[in-house]
Amino acid sequence: MAMRRVAIHGRHLLSSPHLFRRHMNTEPMAALDRIRNSGLLKTQGLVGGKWIDSYDGKKIEVQNPATGDVIASVPCMGSKETTDAISSAYSTYSSWSKLTAAERSKALRNWYDLIIKHKDELALLITLEQGKPIKEALGEVNYGASFIEFFSEEAKRIYGDIIPAPLSDRRLLVLKQPVGVVGAITPWNFPLAMITRKVGPALACGCTVVVKPSEYTPLTALAAADLALQAGIPPGALNIVMGNAPEIGDALLKSTQVRKITFTGSTAVGKKLMEGSASTVKKVSLELGGNAPCIVFDDADIDVAVKGSLAAKFRNSDQTCVCANRILVQEGIYEEFAKAFVKAVQGMQVGNGLVEGTSQGPLINEAAVQKVEKFVNDATSKGANVILGGRRHSLGKTFYEPTVVSNVNRDMLLFKDEVFGPVAPLVPFKTEEDAISMANDTNAGLAAYVFTKSIPRSWRVSEALEYGLVGVNEGIISTEVAPFGGVKQSGLGREGSKYGMDEYLEVKYVCMGNLKET
Ligand code: ADP
Repeated sequence: MAMRRVAIHGRHLLSSPHLFRRHMNTEPMAALDRIRNSGLLKTQGLVGGKWIDSYDGKKIEVQNPATGDVIASVPCMGSKETTDAISSAYSTYSSWSKLTAAERSKALRNWYDLIIKHKDELALLITLEQGKPIKEALGEVNYGASFIEFFSEEAKRIYGDIIPAPLSDRRLLVLKQPVGVVGAITPWNFPLAMITRKVGPALACGCTVVVKPSEYTPLTALAAADLALQAGIPPGALNIVMGNAPEIGDALLKSTQVRKITFTGSTAVGKKLMEGSASTVKKVSLELGGNAPCIVFDDADIDVAVKGSLAAKFRNSDQTCVCANRILVQEGIYEEFAKAFVKAVQGMQVGNGLVEGTSQGPLINEAAVQKVEKFVNDATSKGANVILGGRRHSLGKTFYEPTVVSNVNRDMLLFKDEVFGPVAPLVPFKTEEDAISMANDTNAGLAAYVFTKSIPRSWRVSEALEYGLVGVNEGIISTEVAPFGGVKQSGLGREGSKYGMDEYLEVKYVCMGNLKET
């Protein structure tokens, strides 16, 4: 197995913790040893409660994007393993769905407790395989765990209805029942939270799940699944397969036993999954790409606007679908904002996420950096100016300098598409109407941000924005208690909050007739 080969500063070395004791907190190898010692370095898929390899023995290497080194190898699975995972989820469904809400709630609560107990190891794993700074990784563990806690509580609140009947000898009831087996396909940018946000409500409702995490970040998913087993989530209720994405996706789509597909990822793949769900008429939830506008009005508090837009832009090196993609700035405040924003961006430290003080990690892969380069070149060729950064970082690999581009307009890729890299395009605008028209000039509709001190304007603009989430004078707005999801081509359905439960429930109407006394 590739497992014994771990990496440090570009070299491959055999695992030997004492060699690196001096750097215990920051070195990838020490981090990996800590995870291994905790028992959470799982490198096999999970089907029916058993850890398994792919049936043909094929493997995929998982790399640390900060060093390019191989962290571990995991099985490259396909349709056969997925079919078995579906069968196991299907047979476990009959028992898991029949437990009382209190029993399911307790198992989920145990899982939450274990995630919190192991939050340091999980955060290290996230930083190692995904690259985000350790502080953000810890934030993700808390955020990811919060979905399990919240839905462990919601499990007990799946209320039905009794409807006043139109005929006196009848009683009309509404029951809420679990959808059945769920196929959950998740991306690499939040290796834990995108899973718990789906699996939490699914298990709470009584569904069982087959998860396919991203092949870039399967290790966090496997560690979380191990904790779920330890917590008493029964074998087969949560299965993890990874490998050949289209094959796994097709197996989930074709199966009549899978009643729901939930997906977070690119709009292109989301559309394919929606289309593929048609043949078996599955319930579908999609969290797809965004193109978030961040509108800074002349009447904004400049410090609040800079802090909020910086957080919304550069979180996870701009690799989130709610990241501010376009910063629209009103003419009267443009120069002042640009100056203060550039100063704030200059203060960000780029580096390995394990190093204290790092606020910008690497991008996930070379293709991501090439996309960023393409977008910046397109903008400069059409008249925009790079006022900070604008090139690969001297650290090499997939590090890119935090970048600010001014005078961006509607013709540029930076305006039209999600850049998913640390480039902040500043787009000047004149009036509130212009800002709303520019903001809505996209097929995406996930998150939007508004900075203004005017309360009437906050309402007007929030209501006019064709987006599922709006942050007013705030750049970080996601929380387990609020509904997260997009409109237009950013998706279908909501995750988190009480609305997140509805995605995993069917409504059944029961009419009790002929109730007259004889
Ligand atoms: P990103 O650009 O964020 O990687 P993707 O949509 O490509 O977004 O990936 C999100 C998830 O979808 C990943 O787990 C990936 O493996 C999976 N995926 C990609 N292509 C397919 C497919 N054809 N069928 C099913 N899942 C897929």
